[in-house]
Amino acid sequence: MLEDLLEHAKDILGYQRPVKVRIRPLKMSIARVSFKYGTITLDPAVLNLEEEEMFYILIHELAHLKAETSYHSSSFWREVEKVFPGERAKEIEDRIMTKLQRNMV
Ligand SMILES: [Zn+2]
Repeated sequence: MLEDLLEHAKDILGYQRPVKVRIRPLKMSIARVSFKYGTITLDPAVLNLEEEEMFYILIHELAHLKAETSYHSSSFWREVEKVFPGERAKEIEDRIMTKLQRNMV
């Protein structure tokens, strides 16, 4: 199911490079991305979220990979807004952070 969401997210963003998703406990955040390895690491808590919230996290992390920046720059947000326009991204992000009490990254 996570793999399906990932493929769907890659399709929408038009991101064609290989991406691996790993689940492992993270201390400071709920997700992390490695530019070197093309890896998205998710904290296990993410698996308890609603599908739309998980999908948002994948889009968010893929947007970092696609924009090639770990910052929330304008090129990063341009990618996210292809899928979650306007205030939608912020709304979902707030919901996720309230549920998990941790940052997104
Ligand atoms: Zn981020």
